[in-house]
Amino acid sequence: MIRRFISKVFGRKTRAPGSGAHILPQARHGIRRDQLTDCALKTCETLTQAGFKGYLVGGAVRDLLLGKTPKDFDVATDATPEEVRRLFRRSRIIGRRFQIVHVMCGRETIEVTTFRSNEQKDTDEDDERPTDEHGRLLSDNVFGSMADDAARRDFTINALYYDVVREEVHDYFGGVADCKKRVLRMIGDPDTRFREDPVRMLRAARFAAKLDFHIDPETRRPVATLAPLLANIPRARIFDEALKLLMSGHALRGVHQLRAEGLHHGMLPLLDTILDDPVGERFINAALKTTDTRIAQDKPASPAFLFGTLLWPQVLLRWRALEAGGEKPQPALFIAMDEVLDAQRGQLAIPRRYDGMMKEIWALQPRFEQRGGQRPYRLLEHPRFRAAYDFLLLRAESGEVDLELGEWWTRFQDADDAERESMLKVDSSPRPRRKRKRKKPGETASTAPAE
Ligand code: ATP
Ligand code: MG
Repeated sequence: MIRRFISKVFGRKTRAPGSGAHILPQARHGIRRDQLTDCALKTCETLTQAGFKGYLVGGAVRDLLLGKTPKDFDVATDATPEEVRRLFRRSRIIGRRFQIVHVMCGRETIEVTTFRSNEQKDTDEDDERPTDEHGRLLSDNVFGSMADDAARRDFTINALYYDVVREEVHDYFGGVADCKKRVLRMIGDPDTRFREDPVRMLRAARFAAKLDFHIDPETRRPVATLAPLLANIPRARIFDEALKLLMSGHALRGVHQLRAEGLHHGMLPLLDTILDDPVGERFINAALKTTDTRIAQDKPASPAFLFGTLLWPQVLLRWRALEAGGEKPQPALFIAMDEVLDAQRGQLAIPRRYDGMMKEIWALQPRFEQRGGQRPYRLLEHPRFRAAYDFLLLRAESGEVDLELGEWWTRFQDADDAERESMLKVDSSPRPRRKRKRKKPGETASTAPAE
């Protein structure tokens, strides 16, 4: 059995692009046409009826095989973008150099991509592909055969093609078996493929976390050495990948997977410092868990909120240092916020469009401490109250502020007018408490009756 396994792996790796795929009938892959949207079905069928190939490809086939609902459907074809566009009334070509076609039906959009190749077909006889000095591919926009298209994809489980008409899965690199074994395996030589596009390292961590797969040891081996190549990738692309990981519904596992692979230096450089501190670690874990839970419940999760939590431990550190240096609390917080946002730009490059919301959430935090007079009412009315309150709960959960503070705000929101008034008097108005203390000298604030 071991020998069979080895020969299978060996066979898979040496199979040249251009060689055939294993074709699996419905009984062997189990995908049903009714699991696809009408739009995805119609797109593939229209292409086929016009004499082209039209296969469902990538994440959707993988997710269907794993019994998950795909979040979108991609189609691969041998028709050129212009030919695709002519077939569908509601379609448009996107991109210049790297053209894809968006086919629209109702609210749904299907992305149709023409088969591409990593091979440079039309140039020098030595068939060299253009790469930088580390092996990074500089161009991958050459049309190719379906087998070429499979070979340029990253992992075996992402190179599966579903033929909706014949109800067959075309499997070039053993992706169906890898799905069953729950293994994430790079197509081809992992070292070369990671050098071609270092972002594939981040994708490996993301898919392993999202699908709960383990990374094949051969695929994993070069990562420790090649992780620094992420420094050569445009920051915007790293940020997009970070966002996908954090919004995957498996952010907690994903972030720890990144750290285990040593990949966070290129993506979330702050992570080491944060996770070294127990309060910081509890805070980040609580934040990631909340995001995962919200996504699992189909509730909106805001990237600004999440990036706000990832940067908060730094803000807090600077805030406290500035206060210790004699700065007043509120100005100290604002200085700390700006310093931390500036510092992260060089590392993670969170786009400026998130700054506003992050700052609002942070700036509201000290206001939760003020529980007297009209101030709590004004805070409740603030448009960012909800996000800032959720943020406060994470701080309370991690032990940065008293649990009681979070609980007080939870009660205060649900309370009726009379109850709110009584909460204000007991918890935050200092005068009556002092009066009572004078009458009963043995009583302290914490032993005072709550109601
Ligand atoms: P998700 O469900 O997270 O969207 P996905 O597999 O669909 O997963 P995409 O980023 O949408 O991921 O990419 C679609 C397909 O394109 C992948 O399945 C893979 O075949 C191919 N692909 C994407 N990025 C790369 C890359 N960097 N290198 C090689 N192939 C890639
Ligand atoms: Mg996708």
